[in-house]
Amino acid sequence: MVDALATPLAGLPASALWFWGAVIFVFGLVAGSFLNVCIYRWPREQSIIRPASHCTHCGKSLRWYHNIPLLSWLALRGRCAFCGERISPIYFTVELLNATLWVLVWLKFGGSPQAAACFIVVSLFLIGMFVDFEHYILPDEVTLGGAIGGVIFSTAFPVLHGATTWQGGLLWSAVGALGGGALLWVVRWVGGLIFGRKKQEFETDMTVTLDKQRISLDDGKEREEEALDEVLTSRRERFEFQAASGTVGGKKIDGLRVRITARELSVGGRQWPLAEAPRLVAVTREIEMPREAMGLGDVKLMMAIGAFFGWQAVLFSLVVSSVLGSVVGISLIVFGARKWGAHIPYGPYIIVGAFAWMFFGQEVVGWYLGQAGLR
Ligand SMILES: [Zn+2]
Repeated sequence: MVDALATPLAGLPASALWFWGAVIFVFGLVAGSFLNVCIYRWPREQSIIRPASHCTHCGKSLRWYHNIPLLSWLALRGRCAFCGERISPIYFTVELLNATLWVLVWLKFGGSPQAAACFIVVSLFLIGMFVDFEHYILPDEVTLGGAIGGVIFSTAFPVLHGATTWQGGLLWSAVGALGGGALLWVVRWVGGLIFGRKKQEFETDMTVTLDKQRISLDDGKEREEEALDEVLTSRRERFEFQAASGTVGGKKIDGLRVRITARELSVGGRQWPLAEAPRLVAVTREIEMPREAMGLGDVKLMMAIGAFFGWQAVLFSLVVSSVLGSVVGISLIVFGARKWGAHIPYGPYIIVGAFAWMFFGQEVVGWYLGQAGLR
């Protein structure tokens, strides 16, 4: 493994290795601190350029010495210099992760187009990972931006796909992107059909609100809201429950059966196309609902992986993410930590899968083909 890591840099003396390693680490930190801006602002649809860095609590602009990656956070002990409000350790974590991964990429690929592609993917996907953790969405800037960037990059550097002409790079990148998107789309659709619905009972009243094609569940302590086209992945999926009390368009619906599908809202036999459905608020103790499935963001994320690294990376990331997702999911159920409010996004698993591909993918595929007697 160490040999494999050191290959492209084998001729470099130790002093140069340390020097360039440190330079890359520092650049990784600076980039990481910009990633933090994107992680905060992209899901809030704010500009990443203006205004300059400021405390999100008191609004005061940060001085240059409050903006030094890792060090400022440590020196200020994770608090704003002006108002003393806690600054999330995520800032520190993202900077450290980005810098560390950049150094590892450089150790593996040296100064090459592969390294450049991995720098971009690492940084872009770290944004996706931390946004998904917090907001349960993958920003299009990360997923579609990554897919488009991957195709452009592959056309400029066809060697990324083992091709020698720009047409080859473009072709294999497009195959990876479209194949990855199609595969995940099918997985998402089949998952919806197989796992379909589940009946969920609640110990306290759950308030269900349907408004402008978004659904929210609120038990008084936690509230979760999602777009219906994100949670209902096939035509058969639905939310269905008996409303103990509530209103639709201001009219009482106590005791009526409510059904929400990807197409329509139906309350006690009356139906509306979803786009024209009036606002619904209902209280219930039991809901039949779709199981947590992948979102469209995961489909688009896989397109970005395919665009940069090709179809093999798509399959590899899917396998790694499903194994990892099952292990974590089962552990959470075993330890009783899972409920609807504790919804786990799937994006971070796929991202870990993509990172694993960057560092070990070729080796694992080679080993596997060897075991299977194919090489
Ligand atoms: Zn402050």
